[in-house]
Amino acid sequence: MPAILIVEDEKKIARFLELELKHEGYEVLTAFDGRSGLETALEKDPDLLILDLMLPELSGIEVCRRLRHTSDLPIIMLTAKDDVSDKVMGLDMGADDYVTKPFAIEELLARIRVALKKRRARDAVQQEQQDHILSVGCVSIDTASWQVHVKNEPVMLTKKEFDTLKYLMEHRGTAVTRDQLMNEVWGYDYIGDSNIVDVYIRYLRHKIDDQFGIKTIHTIRSVGYLFDYEEEQK
Ligand code: CA
Repeated sequence: MPAILIVEDEKKIARFLELELKHEGYEVLTAFDGRSGLETALEKDPDLLILDLMLPELSGIEVCRRLRHTSDLPIIMLTAKDDVSDKVMGLDMGADDYVTKPFAIEELLARIRVALKKRRARDAVQQEQQDHILSVGCVSIDTASWQVHVKNEPVMLTKKEFDTLKYLMEHRGTAVTRDQLMNEVWGYDYIGDSNIVDVYIRYLRHKIDDQFGIKTIHTIRSVGYLFDYEEEQK
């Protein structure tokens, strides 16, 4: 179950929240001032933070601001009824949502569910993006968007060039034969000249190795090609 950190100096409210959240099955951590709240958040890395704004030691706004340097955990603020400027400041500092005191526990629970759901959705998107990235040294390709970057600069490749590079990078450190590349990139039914592979290797070497002064595509005599890249020793 997700872990929720409650930072609230009014012990009665903190205790009430703790019981309610535990009842819902959440794991609960508590802190009673801003400083220990910040420390606990950084140390325990909870899945969500319920943050009172009026806190001793360090205000909720300040906790929020400092947390956002390193953390993107969802933050729901607890604010006083008519303090609009606090709400605005909290949202500006990166809080995700707020609940006004006194609040109905059902409302807070609903907002917690929404915040956790958003977070899970975003994590899933990030994971998917990472799964599409293939990097070797300073060369990286995104197999979903067909983008190629070398030394963080975009490189425009044609579809066939991209497929050739992708296959080589997927087999980094291993010699790949012309036949393998032919079958993989041009397909078994391609009936043209197999020199086409060498032509595309030449294009790739020009666009990647020559342009960026690196060596990635190596010729393995009478076998084919091998992709590898070692960072320069300094
Ligand atoms: Ca308070």
